[in-house]
Amino acid sequence: MSGSTETQSKTKSKGPESGDFYDVRGLLGEEEKQIQDAVGRFVDERVLPVIADAFDEHRFPSELVPEIAEMGLLGCSLEGYECAGLSQVSYGLVCQELERGDSGLRSFVSVQGSLCMWPIHTYGSEEQKQRWLPPMARGEAIGCFGLTEPDGGSDPATMRTRAVRDGSDWILNGAKMWITNGSIADVAIVWAETDDGVRGFLVEQDMPGYTTRDILKKYSLRASITSELFFDGVRVPESHRLPGAAGLAAPLGCLTQARYGITWGAIGAAIACFREALEFASTRKVFGHMLSETQTIQRRLADMARRITTAQLLSLQLGRLKDAGRMHHSQVSMAKWNNVRAALDVARDARDILGAGGISIEFASIRHMLNLESVITYEGTETIHELVVGRQLTGHSAF
Ligand SMILES: Cc1cc2nc3c(=O)[nH]c(=O)nc-3n(C[C@H](O)[C@H](O)[C@H](O)COP(=O)(O)OP(=O)(O)OC[C@H]3O[C@@H](n4cnc5c(N)ncnc54)[C@H](O)[C@@H]3O)c2cc1C
Repeated sequence: MSGSTETQSKTKSKGPESGDFYDVRGLLGEEEKQIQDAVGRFVDERVLPVIADAFDEHRFPSELVPEIAEMGLLGCSLEGYECAGLSQVSYGLVCQELERGDSGLRSFVSVQGSLCMWPIHTYGSEEQKQRWLPPMARGEAIGCFGLTEPDGGSDPATMRTRAVRDGSDWILNGAKMWITNGSIADVAIVWAETDDGVRGFLVEQDMPGYTTRDILKKYSLRASITSELFFDGVRVPESHRLPGAAGLAAPLGCLTQARYGITWGAIGAAIACFREALEFASTRKVFGHMLSETQTIQRRLADMARRITTAQLLSLQLGRLKDAGRMHHSQVSMAKWNNVRAALDVARDARDILGAGGISIEFASIRHMLNLESVITYEGTETIHELVVGRQLTGHSAF
């Protein structure tokens, strides 16, 4: 499969037709532009040529991981331990460009950096940081984040996975479900209930009693690995517990980091679909007219540009707040809700504008559309984020 039409979503001019109607790029600093361009080139040259086949084959393109690591994209907003120490806006732009390629690739980078390296960096001991962060930044060790369980994800307080003290060790029993990178992870950050509330543990792949099983036949995020994790009396030393993580606030803090990146990533997916629809409408003749000459198509393209522009401005301001240390998690909820919904609507509309061809993997829009069905569900469903904003506004929790 050539994936030839996907070249249409490559980085090209920076004008309104590229998906930047308000010159949001003009608000970026020089370093931020350089990072966006470098990751954009990587996506154009290395990701787009292979990603349709990878999605079709239900295969994570692991061959791209060394290059992603080489560019310093893993844990890129963290300081020290071989991490790049980029600004939060730069990290957002990394996510945007990667997801212009595919949500699966951005998910890999989000999980590695925000859900695994960030908690080790924030809650871990010095020994844990030295042990894991440098190899994770180099892409030599992979991580996964186990919070969701078979009985539910929106309400993690109901978790059944349990860790019980046994001398200086912990004995872990339970199961996690829908875990990105699960079966390829050298280390799983596992959240478990203890007598003192929720705690986080670093479970290594070869610990006896720890097994994984991939979730197959997904019709979304097919270029990403999603697994179940099983813990059957796994003995975890106290040195593998994250000492700074106490209570549910700890995993929720990780999710705020990852969701922030998702708000940017969704923009990338939307831009890819918008460009593809615009290009098609500019060349497809129907009833003697170019599609792009019709009022209805122009309104639909204008609506896509409106949604993308709103999302870009939300995420940029969110990033500036985060860089200034003033971001509130409910602001991330609003942006995740708005931007992923916007991207999904854009992707579905682009798919339709492409006509019958739009159902083919030769076009990127259906792949993005299917991926975004996961993105709107994971890291807090759309409903949960609406309720988080509602709680912030009213002071009443409705969930
Ligand atoms: C591809 C993929 C990768 C994932 N990767 C990870 C991962 O790496 N690590 C991890 O821990 N998890 C991961 N997840 C799990 C994800 O975070 C959960 O699926 C998500 O939080 C939703 O949980 P659930 O599926 O159990 O749905 P539920 O919580 O059962 O929700 C079902 C429905 O009920 C709605 N709902 C919930 N509460 C309310 C309420 N109070 N009022 C009204 N409606 C409500 C929800 O919005 C949803 O529509 C992944 C999921 C997918 C699909």
